[in-house]
Amino acid sequence: MHMKTITELLNLPKYKVKKVIEITDESLHLEVTPKEKEPPICSACMMVHNTKIHSRQEVVVEDMWMCNRKVFLHIVKRKSICIEDETIRTEHIPDLLGRNTKRFSEHVYRLTSITTNKEAGWFLGIDDERVYRIDKTMLEQLAKERLDPVPIPKHMSVDEVAWQKWHKYVTNVVDTDSRMVIWNHQGRGKAVLDKFYHKLGKENRKEIKAVASDGARGFLKSTREHTDALIVLDHFHVKMYLNNALDAVRKEELKKARKQENRELEGILHCNQRFIMMKNKPSKKKENILETLSRLNQRVYEAMLLKDQFIEVYNAPNKKAASVLLGKWIVSAIKSGIKPFVQLADKFFRKRHYILNIFEHRISTAISEGINNKIKRLRRMAYGYRDVHYFLLKIHQHCGLLNPKLST
Ligand SMILES: [Zn+2]
Repeated sequence: MHMKTITELLNLPKYKVKKVIEITDESLHLEVTPKEKEPPICSACMMVHNTKIHSRQEVVVEDMWMCNRKVFLHIVKRKSICIEDETIRTEHIPDLLGRNTKRFSEHVYRLTSITTNKEAGWFLGIDDERVYRIDKTMLEQLAKERLDPVPIPKHMSVDEVAWQKWHKYVTNVVDTDSRMVIWNHQGRGKAVLDKFYHKLGKENRKEIKAVASDGARGFLKSTREHTDALIVLDHFHVKMYLNNALDAVRKEELKKARKQENRELEGILHCNQRFIMMKNKPSKKKENILETLSRLNQRVYEAMLLKDQFIEVYNAPNKKAASVLLGKWIVSAIKSGIKPFVQLADKFFRKRHYILNIFEHRISTAISEGINNKIKRLRRMAYGYRDVHYFLLKIHQHCGLLNPKLST
């Protein structure tokens, strides 16, 4: 093939292929040099200086595969003196990102949005560590373009998610209309959400009409302090609290059943039954469990009924009716004497206004559940994420504005 043809194929407009260094069954090495009429861009100030070329240095960068061969470009970079700081600087080449071409980096980032870094690395024949470095560089660059300034939400939800053991958390803010994570940060609580509101600025904060959250004190306080938004303790979290209370009762009774060697009860309370017990919709299987429990264990039976009863609050025709039903529920929960539900009744009493605010604005938080599941999967996919900043970027890549599917 003529060098001119390879140059055209390569499609790096300011560079030409000088020669083929080596071609094997696995790889192709090309020597690439700048077209001399194109002056170098200074990597320090991004300007063209027209000063004399001081020296040249060859760097090897990986490009996209060509005809089943890995492609390596041996690019000659020019060095010249920057007139700003009078230091020798290597030229900046816009088509490169570190030791890779930009298009190769993009390819890596597209792959990592659909699979693990390990799998992507295997597919491309590069190690995980390099996948991580390329991916992080790409995401950092995209974050500058797409996440700054922060998109202003009209309706938002805020939630925390554990990212490592020992209670390390990250906080995510979701625009519930676009269904995208728009901001996130390490940690949780008031100080973290304050950062988000500060970043938005006083004027932009006025646009926020409703904020859904798990009702945590810090999030409530920060939102009250910075916005006039309607605050909702959302359905998703209420459901989660109910499920957690029911599960706590199930676990306690399972322990007792094991001690007493009550095999029948053990079978019913076994953790593989958990999902049937927690389902909101009635089913034959759930009915059977309820029937057996009414004979075998009143505590779990009552806990299941209490959990199901709560649905009535949401099915109420209006806020006033819901308020009455919520009051009744709180009384029944306290009367039951079942500790996890007594504690929950106390929580729901303190946060009743926020629970009932869903009748003022039906903020959609179905997305919160989806995003939570996606983040959990992401965490499993990636060996712990020692690097929290990378984890935050990955959340944007999988659940937000850094997703490659948005730009194509
Ligand atoms: Zn310069």
